Amino acid sequence: MTEKFQAIRGMPDILPVDVPFWHEFETYWRRLTSSYGYEEIRLPILEATALFKRSIGEVTDIVEKEMFSFESRDGESLSLRPEGTAGCVRAALEHHLLHHQVQRLWYQGPMFRYERPQKGRYRQFHQVGIEAFGLEGPDIEVEHILMMVRLWKWLGVESAISLQVNSLGSFESRKIYREKLVDYLSQYYHELDADSRRRLQTNPLRILDSKNPALANIIAGAPKCQDYLDAASKLHFETFLQYLSQAGVHYKINSNLVRGLDYYNRTVYEWVTDKLGAQGTVCAGGRYDSLVEQLGGSQIKAVGFALGIERALLLQRALDHCKTVERDVYLIHLGEGSEKKALLFAEQLRNDWPELRLIVHCGGGSFKAQFKRADQSGAKIAFILGETELATETVSIKWLRETEQEQVSISKNEVNQFLTKYLREGKQ
Ligand code: ATP
Ligand code: MG
Repeated sequence: MTEKFQAIRGMPDILPVDVPFWHEFETYWRRLTSSYGYEEIRLPILEATALFKRSIGEVTDIVEKEMFSFESRDGESLSLRPEGTAGCVRAALEHHLLHHQVQRLWYQGPMFRYERPQKGRYRQFHQVGIEAFGLEGPDIEVEHILMMVRLWKWLGVESAISLQVNSLGSFESRKIYREKLVDYLSQYYHELDADSRRRLQTNPLRILDSKNPALANIIAGAPKCQDYLDAASKLHFETFLQYLSQAGVHYKINSNLVRGLDYYNRTVYEWVTDKLGAQGTVCAGGRYDSLVEQLGGSQIKAVGFALGIERALLLQRALDHCKTVERDVYLIHLGEGSEKKALLFAEQLRNDWPELRLIVHCGGGSFKAQFKRADQSGAKIAFILGETELATETVSIKWLRETEQEQVSISKNEVNQFLTKYLREGKQ
């Protein structure tokens, strides 16, 4: 028996019925980023494992247990990228993009994490992300949040998503806070779960992020990061919040929001929804002022965010706000030699109307069968080239979605006029 292959666990195919939603998202994303002056950078999927260890941090979930790492043929340890920031900083440094200049960059593409697959959580998933270099903020943080507000509105999900913010302070203030937190949590050592006990030494802030309900009370009583902020970070955070309010953006301060990656300082935030269960974080970001230096560059401040496209589209679907996939014309034809004539007519239309979404019926069949296909295709109108039309150089036009519109016949010369009106106004 021949072996049947299946996709690798957690690495789903994206099927043709879903791809149009991805296209729409990607097209809007390009428009959005360009309207804010961001430029795309395209980054490789593989990087040296050491890059992620150094940037994300050795004792983070991602590096400890979520990376797809392997040895290349020449013995170097490589990893499929689990996120985009590390590679983006690496590339920006390698190509001297950060020298005395501000950079507003964006990227998109697949990311890989060895997690337990479930709805909204995959081993290959896709992100779009933004990184801005050379800006101290907090105006730039606010710019990023305003971009996302626009995106949520466009997706139609703004009522189901909310913004949570926090400040981690400077690395120095975080050190002081960390000690206080370890002192506090150590009192409850015997009540902590195994994960949290381990983290107490390695990454105690992450305990605040624990989803274990048994720890909820302990976490609620823990010292708050904001109470230990240094003066400059405090001002940064307050100004950030003020700008958000002035821009009409609602937010909630969440003292337990620490993010899983080591490189963050000061501002951190997440866009969350309660519509996707445990996969409720759709977009997350923050400031990472020392990463560039850590990776061998000079002291260049940076801030960015990443959005999971699968989760954004799942949320849109959960709210039933999917824009329907549309096609304009399905070209139906019947009669002697109609196949060739239809193909040539369609080519001419495509020459004249590059934006027209046109399907030519292929494979023959009765009018009835062809109309059925036309219906399924999502096209708004059918152009019909039957025997009469072919003999009289006319085209019949039938509206497939608006039943009150009568079928009409126009001469081929009038098709351009018809399409001008249709494409400009969406109607006859
Ligand atoms: P979570 O807490 O859900 O694991 P995260 O904090 O690990 O998320 P980030 O590293 O901040 O996620 O990545 C940014 C965004 O990428 C997330 O908000 C989410 O939308 C998306 N994302 C992260 N991991 C996955 C995954 N395994 N599958 C699908 N989307 C993901
Ligand atoms: Mg995660």
